[in-house]
Amino acid sequence: MELNHYPKWRVYLFNLNDRVAIVTGASQGIGEAIAKIFAASGAHVICIARNKIKLKNLINHITKEGGSASYINCDITNNETFSNAIYSVLTEFNRLDILVNNAGITRDALLMRMKEEQWDEVLNTNLKAAFHGTKSVIRSMMKNKYGRIINITSIVGLQGNAGQSNYAASKAGLIGFSQSIAKEVGARGITINCIAPGWIETEMTKEIPEKTKSELLKNIPLGRIGSSEDIGYAALFLASEKSKYITGQTITIDGGRLIN
Ligand code: NAP
Repeated sequence: MELNHYPKWRVYLFNLNDRVAIVTGASQGIGEAIAKIFAASGAHVICIARNKIKLKNLINHITKEGGSASYINCDITNNETFSNAIYSVLTEFNRLDILVNNAGITRDALLMRMKEEQWDEVLNTNLKAAFHGTKSVIRSMMKNKYGRIINITSIVGLQGNAGQSNYAASKAGLIGFSQSIAKEVGARGITINCIAPGWIETEMTKEIPEKTKSELLKNIPLGRIGSSEDIGYAALFLASEKSKYITGQTITIDGGRLIN
């Protein structure tokens, strides 16, 4: 995705000029697209993930395109490391305007076969890390009376999915978490919202068997798989000042899958 594909007028609609943003899980897929779109919109983006090489490539790409970004190599399930990473950003920039809790994993199994480790790994990555991330930024956002927190959930968190009880619990948990924090911090100019993607073409979904894919496609009114950019543009709106009267919401981006 080339940053210069974006029309010039975007700057006047949803710009993130001079904003400081953290995107977790930015080394690939949806997080990478969000990081590129935020940078193209004027933010300095701090990209967090474990894969250093992919992160370096992303930063090179963004800076070559004229954007501003840096990375922190970190496992977000290590609470202390993750919180320290966020504190280092707060120390360097003296503020954080936008946090996107995007990093997520699946460890699918039917409940009868699901191991406790599979449950813990998914809940720790998808939900508990969002708790630590949000807790680490909230004081600074409250002080600055401004903040945008975006949690990437899933339509699976809204309707469940056989074989994904751990994933569904983590994603439903993110929605309740966001609604609660929205009530706690709304008076301080901080909004917290979720995006619930449907089926998006990334590494996470590339293992879905072809037969299942054609079945899934039949249930998508828009007739195609989503792209990471489809999520990135919605994240841009929620991250911008223009979304200031929206909080505690979940925006479903699934090509119409849920209404079908
Ligand atoms: P992906 O391609 O597998 O990317 C996941 C990202 O999370 C990677 O950048 C990975 O980076 C990072 N990550 C995972 N565990 C981490 C950890 N312990 N510490 C730090 N970073 C970690 O997945 P995706 O499809 O882009 O998914 C992004 C988000 O969208 C997830 O929350 C997912 O649940 C959600 N979602 C995706 C779909 C879909 O159809 N793709 C649908 C609904 C919701 P490293 O491996 O480098 O650490």
